[in-house]
Amino acid sequence: MGKRFVARCALCGEVRLSTREHVIPRGFYPPSKASSRIQRIVIPACGPCNNGTADDDVHLRNVISIAGTANAAVTELWDGPIRRSLRLGDGPRRAAEMMRIMTPPTERPGMFRIYPGKDARILRSVRKIVRGLSFHHGLRWPLDDDQVFCDTLRAPVPTVVLNHMTEAHAEPDIMNYRYATVTDSPGIESGWLLRFYERTVFIGMVFESAQEKRRQETIGELGRFETRLETVINGETGIPSVRD
Ligand SMILES: [Zn+2]
Repeated sequence: MGKRFVARCALCGEVRLSTREHVIPRGFYPPSKASSRIQRIVIPACGPCNNGTADDDVHLRNVISIAGTANAAVTELWDGPIRRSLRLGDGPRRAAEMMRIMTPPTERPGMFRIYPGKDARILRSVRKIVRGLSFHHGLRWPLDDDQVFCDTLRAPVPTVVLNHMTEAHAEPDIMNYRYATVTDSPGIESGWLLRFYERTVFIGMVFESAQEKRRQETIGELGRFETRLETVINGETGIPSVRD
């Protein structure tokens, strides 16, 4: 538990006893990076905003660690923290939760498709990262969880869209991301692309309010925006796609 201090929480905006929290959960970094001197992205966050999300964060890390080809960071995580998390006390539960979103496709025996976008806890963890990054980059904060939409990215993003986005990273092999403020879609304030471990990509959208997000969901506008963002133009994107 880090040092406590009174601050305005970056996630809920309440002035409360807070700690410095990592926007990218510490468990996402392999042990060899534990002593890294690279400044990680931290935000002040209160107890209520942090409690209860650690388990979801581990679940998110484990699931995105089994999707696709492993980079060195993922291999190291599998050789240590992930293997341990699946063996200890609640390991069987974790494994069962991972299996639930894996579907064996018929055309490739022994291979599984993974659907992180169908898992509410995973998406909540991703939304929390977007909320933290929004604060970090001086965009709107605080953000309610239900003001943010996240999903897995299903098709490459057009280069023209990517070129309008600012590129940043929390160490490129762990998570790199792009973001942009949105001016041409009323009610949507910013768009995000988060790529974990050089492969699994999530899309994020920040709405001016939870009501506005619900309204756009209801009238199907949200789906149209996503489709527009995901329209495939000539494939070349710089960010590989992931089929959820
Ligand atoms: Zn809070």
